[in-house]
Amino acid sequence: MKITDGDAFSRSIGVPFFSPLITKKDKQAVLKALESPLLTDGPILREFENAFAKFAGAKFAIGVSNATSALHLTIKSAGIGNGDEVIIPDMTFVATASSVLLSGATPVLADINDDLNISVKSIEKSITSKTKAILPVHFAGKPCNMTDIGRIAKKNNLIVIEDCAHAIGSKYNKRHVGTFGSAGCFSFYPTKNITSIEGGMITTNSGKIAKYISTLRNHGILKSLKERYTHGKPWDYDVLEPGYNYRLDEIRSALGLSQLERINKLNSDRKRAFEYYNSKLDNVKGISTPKIQRDSTEAFHLYIIKIKKDYKISRDALFRKMLSQGIRTSVHYKPLHKFTVFKKKAKIYDKLDNSEMTYKEVISLPFYPQISRIQQDQVIECIV
Ligand SMILES: *Cc1c(COP(=O)(O)O)cnc(C)c1O
Repeated sequence: MKITDGDAFSRSIGVPFFSPLITKKDKQAVLKALESPLLTDGPILREFENAFAKFAGAKFAIGVSNATSALHLTIKSAGIGNGDEVIIPDMTFVATASSVLLSGATPVLADINDDLNISVKSIEKSITSKTKAILPVHFAGKPCNMTDIGRIAKKNNLIVIEDCAHAIGSKYNKRHVGTFGSAGCFSFYPTKNITSIEGGMITTNSGKIAKYISTLRNHGILKSLKERYTHGKPWDYDVLEPGYNYRLDEIRSALGLSQLERINKLNSDRKRAFEYYNSKLDNVKGISTPKIQRDSTEAFHLYIIKIKKDYKISRDALFRKMLSQGIRTSVHYKPLHKFTVFKKKAKIYDKLDNSEMTYKEVISLPFYPQISRIQQDQVIECIV
């Protein structure tokens, strides 16, 4: 089989790893936004921000160009920069670590638990006099233990910033993630639980952080477009420090808003597909399936199993077997300590044994809200 770019998401192969779902209503919302006089940083963005703040139970939500810029601005908003250290999990997408480096600070890589979330014990071993923040990632939509992380942060006078890229709709103790720390950063990249194609959101309960981020995402300009055009001279604004163009335009905001309206359905469809995989794979020798906490609300972003030593073939052999049958899988993620840039620029104070071992075992199966039973059965057939 010839493999080309974009094949992994293509509808023409056996089972794609992921498949986007843009409805007729989404398309209509985008077309309508194209007719608005303000094509960027306008009323549809405000509407998306208000709807997201309400959805997450946060006082403020600020839309930005993606989750990497969300993390970058959030870290900067905490005054974190040169010489400071930020503790992150070793197993996450590279953007978590890159955003720390972009702010001038140093990422410190901590080990993970069996559930793929950052280990609280490892966080404790990674704290130094330079540590300023803990940056947990709610991996695959499973909330981190925010009680323990909050306790350690308080004890050591540290800030908590949440990477919620996988966790749109995940709650910990009935409270939405992204509201425990000083801020939460969400992604609307196509594979995430809702998409604006590119896009991100920051949730916070701090008016000060919200104001700082809103300013910096728009070139550091202190006045909003509305303020500039309704009072006084539009050109007469000030800038206190160099800002960025991290804006979210009206077209993307319209798509995000339209998708947000059906997030609960999208996540419950994910849950159903998740439970179906579990029901068929739970008892397969050598396979470890992901556990669902009772009564929890989760985003179920990825479906990840672990291939143990007593499974009939290796993880890589299973990956190749599935690929040969047109079933696309992946590994989330190659640990950060294996990347050239982080080998040079990140710090490690604890052993990363669990991350190292987990990397050899995990495989992410095809998973998206509209995956069919037939497709899931094809995947299951290949594994059992
Ligand atoms: C997707 C992702 C990001 C980055 O999101 P973008 O919107 O693509 O910038 C950051 N962290 C994690 C854990 C992610 O999965």
